Amino acid sequence: MVRVRFAPSPTGPLHLGGIRTALYNYLFAKKHKGKFILRIEDTDKKRWIPHSESYIFETLKWCQIEPDEGAGYGGDYYPYYQSKRGDIYRFYINKLLDKGHVYYAFDTDQELHKKRKEYHNMGLTFSYNYKIRMHLNNSLNMTKKQLYMKLHSGSSYVIRLKITPGEKLNMHDMIRGKIVVYTDNLDDKILLKSNGGATYHLANTIDDHLMKITHVIRGEEWLPSMSLHLLLYRALGWSTPIFAHLPLILRNDGKGKISKRNVEKLDFPILPLQWKVPDTKTIIPGYRELGYFPEAFVNMLALLGWNPGGNKEIFSLKELIHFFSFERVHKSGVYFNIKKANWFNKQYLNKKQEEILSYLQIKLQKRFLFYEKNYLSKVLHLIIDRIYFIHEIWKHSFYFFISPIYYEYNFFHQICHKKTFYLLEHYKIFLSKIPIFTSLHLRLIFKKIDKANRRIIMQLFRFALVGDLKGCDLFIIFEMVGKEESIRRIDNLMKKIRKKIFHGFFEKRT
Ligand code: GLU
Repeated sequence: MVRVRFAPSPTGPLHLGGIRTALYNYLFAKKHKGKFILRIEDTDKKRWIPHSESYIFETLKWCQIEPDEGAGYGGDYYPYYQSKRGDIYRFYINKLLDKGHVYYAFDTDQELHKKRKEYHNMGLTFSYNYKIRMHLNNSLNMTKKQLYMKLHSGSSYVIRLKITPGEKLNMHDMIRGKIVVYTDNLDDKILLKSNGGATYHLANTIDDHLMKITHVIRGEEWLPSMSLHLLLYRALGWSTPIFAHLPLILRNDGKGKISKRNVEKLDFPILPLQWKVPDTKTIIPGYRELGYFPEAFVNMLALLGWNPGGNKEIFSLKELIHFFSFERVHKSGVYFNIKKANWFNKQYLNKKQEEILSYLQIKLQKRFLFYEKNYLSKVLHLIIDRIYFIHEIWKHSFYFFISPIYYEYNFFHQICHKKTFYLLEHYKIFLSKIPIFTSLHLRLIFKKIDKANRRIIMQLFRFALVGDLKGCDLFIIFEMVGKEESIRRIDNLMKKIRKKIFHGFFEKRT
């Protein structure tokens, strides 16, 4: 049975890359009727950031890609927090010691620093590997007795993997195909830290094996670790899972990959949910708070690195499960584009008319305004093309329900003279005499006004009705709000202009 895991470290909020890894794991598991597991990789206490775990849980829930098993969900391979698995890691490191696959290294930070400096001065990079390990402070250069003495003296040590040089490792990745690595180029990575805790490499490999993970699906940043992990599986006598390393998500301004480091400074969102930065207490809104639908977010994310072929872009979660395959996951980095993200939201918004209507109804009820559903539907029909998010509806439709609260400052000042006033007066009377107040009829009647005046008066009427030069077709607004209300709004604007001309008073609203 397929068993995959999402293994985030609680070092801050998940970003687009992290949640996409979770999504691809989920899709793959569901497609193959397997299990999707959540494991929290919290071995690095120094990098732990409070609330990261609850953030992970909430994000998976919001995206509706919840695990079948794991941290917060339970399962047979408990515990799913690495911080609770210390004994397991120590058990296996002892096995590796017995077999001679690892060794104790006693080099102090100062000693290593000195070495690095020496190499640097020679124009070389220091690497703790087979070439140099015999000249360093480790158990490979000690007799059993010396080692015994050293350990009993309480010297601090780490445990490193002893890489055998001269081997060509043929590896396979589901996305990248064949990958070759020469063990000569690998260094003896630390597996057990001086505080007795396992490093990511050791814990990750042991857990994947013990949790019976069949496919390791993770970000490209872990590709360089794959050879080390394969060697570890081999040293432990275990078969290896199948690997897939997902492409990086790149910023489309050419500034490299998306990362959570500069999340506060980015001008586009990369977090699924709101995050409060612990140090600064700054609140960074996520896709949820910005009004994206989770289905749209998930759909957008799925296509950020995977191409199903053909022109279809809108996929429900069920369809994603059906169509998803690693053959169509890109090898190279993919560019994130916020416009495309908005486009996805728009496609889902168009299908959510009932939700938009109830949102609008609630908005109106709060103002003690009640409208027939028929009228609201008409409004929605008129403005839906202008909005990408539910919350934008009010900004674009308020003038169908209430008169403008304020007038756009610049245009108002431009029209504050007697000529406009008289023009408005004249055409208000003209308007009031039109018997049939439908957009069709009004359009015909207005055609009779000479061109120069028509343009100006239509602008002024729009301004009176909307408070701005934006909005839907003017004749439709007339028809929707009705003659009486239209004239009332024209009167209001005239009053404002008169006040400004005679008293020089107009409050600036921003
Ligand atoms: N803990 C690692 C991370 O947060 C997971 C890497 C993996 O999936 O192997 O990126």
